[in-house]
Amino acid sequence: MSSSLSQQPVQTHSLEQLTEVIHFLHARGWTPATSSNFSCRLPDGQAGFLVSVSGLDKGTFSAQDFLDVDFTGQVIRPEQAHLRPSAETLLHALVYQQFPDTQVVLHTHSVNGTVLSKLYEAEQGILLKEFEVLKGLEGISTHQTGLWLPIFANHQDMTVLAKQIDPILREQSPIYGFLLAGHGLYTWGNTLAQAKRHVEVFEFLFECILKLRSHGYSDYSA
Ligand SMILES: [Zn+2]
Repeated sequence: MSSSLSQQPVQTHSLEQLTEVIHFLHARGWTPATSSNFSCRLPDGQAGFLVSVSGLDKGTFSAQDFLDVDFTGQVIRPEQAHLRPSAETLLHALVYQQFPDTQVVLHTHSVNGTVLSKLYEAEQGILLKEFEVLKGLEGISTHQTGLWLPIFANHQDMTVLAKQIDPILREQSPIYGFLLAGHGLYTWGNTLAQAKRHVEVFEFLFECILKLRSHGYSDYSA
């Protein structure tokens, strides 16, 4: 890997700190087999973001393994033109364009998220409600909350996926993330800490809901 890749600090955190979060997510088993991708907005109002290079093991991912891309997913810097951004870069772009305050987007592939996304795929979402840990989502102050987590059919063509997801990002408020069926979770935050917390909230809830379902409690449909 070239040492000339961008290492400039971003607004609320450094790439080293984002890399630490990636290692944390990997250690939890949420980024298996080189899957998952991560990004943060470029600093100082530049149009675009830094996204993880495709196909790398997230246990050994480094702060040098990010590419500068624009909102169409094209690599910005000529010296990085030979590297391939994550295949799902366009989905990160959607989030940054829809939410101007979002600084970090985290996409993971956990077992629990994947299983739940299949169980609720036909219903196109899961209603998360009456869990204290929902208060870990920025702006939620009571467990007496019903939060819809949308689920979209998976697709290998990111332009098809983007067309499904874009209207929901515009219409649903609040929205903290979404699942791709049989695939994984996208969530984001206005800071790195917030985005990491949101992954942890969702993963905690996924595990709770699966355990509750195994006891016959399955009240998470719309
Ligand atoms: Zn993925």
